[in-house]
Amino acid sequence: AKKSGRNTLRFFDPKMQGSINTRVALERELRKALDSQQFRLHYQIQVDSSGLPFGVEALIRWLHPERGLVPPFEFISLAEETGLICPIGEWVLETACKQLKLWERHELTQDLIMSVNVSAKQFYQSDFVVKVLEAIHRHDVNPSLLKLELTESMLLDKIEDTISTMNALKAVGVRFSLDDFGTGYSSLQYLKRLPLNQLKIDRSFVRDIAVDSSDEAIVSTIIAMAHSLNLDVIAEGVETDEQKQILLNKGCIHYQGYLFGKPVPIEQLEVMLKQDCLC
Ligand code: C2E
Ligand code: CA
Ligand code: CA
Ligand code: CA
Repeated sequence: AKKSGRNTLRFFDPKMQGSINTRVALERELRKALDSQQFRLHYQIQVDSSGLPFGVEALIRWLHPERGLVPPFEFISLAEETGLICPIGEWVLETACKQLKLWERHELTQDLIMSVNVSAKQFYQSDFVVKVLEAIHRHDVNPSLLKLELTESMLLDKIEDTISTMNALKAVGVRFSLDDFGTGYSSLQYLKRLPLNQLKIDRSFVRDIAVDSSDEAIVSTIIAMAHSLNLDVIAEGVETDEQKQILLNKGCIHYQGYLFGKPVPIEQLEVMLKQDCLC
């Protein structure tokens, strides 16, 4: 295994995805990880313009017994290719709903919205709606506290299927956010047909917003689009106060990024939330 990042050991380099042995080994390990409960969810807060948390995004990690914490980019694409993303995605939904139920009992956390990432393969499973409803009912959670993050590219193909799946869940109150927005090529024509609640501005546009005038223009356009479609808009990857101020000036009042908090395990998140409450 080769050292990467600060505290993670990279054992699956995405550049080596072509190597069959590596892929087969990783697939075997992924199955084992699922059976022996090696996945964890980390949570990153989402805040409004006054810094108050209103939601969190659940982000998967693989706590490997020897290799430590493995980030999603090292295994999500293979999980998608092999179909393992479906049981993994079910585990994510299950864990997120369990957590939502626990939060209900505390004043500090009872209104937090939980955002969960959904892969195309998972979303287009014929039993996707049933699986989501089952998780909601099993844990008796308020469906309007669950937000599913879909990506632009996955929705482009089967628009009618997409709309009916989304509507079935929207009918009970589940919300939808369009993740990584701006990286695909959705037209307003197309977007207005989707029963979305939120657009999420991709990190790549936020990063240089203070120095790159075309990024700044794109972000302005996305915010205007969101408003004209009556959608919330959230910016991801906000790292500096300057970025936040520019976004705020443009009318974007929801943010997620290292400026407010990195993704952390649940215990740390709860400590962060308590601190926010004090000020
Ligand atoms: P994403 O959905 O776009 O998630 C946001 C990513 O940006 C996260 O990376 C997060 O840690 C990172 N991030 C947040 N704020 C900042 C910031 O201020 N600066 C920088 N540089 N990065 C920031 P992470 O956790 O490594 O996840 C990567 C991707 O893996 C996610 O991108 C998502 O596509 C996928 N993923 C994560 N969890 C799941 C899951 O449960 N299911 C599925 N299907 N995909 C997941
Ligand atoms: Ca996301
Ligand atoms: Ca994103
Ligand atoms: Ca992204």
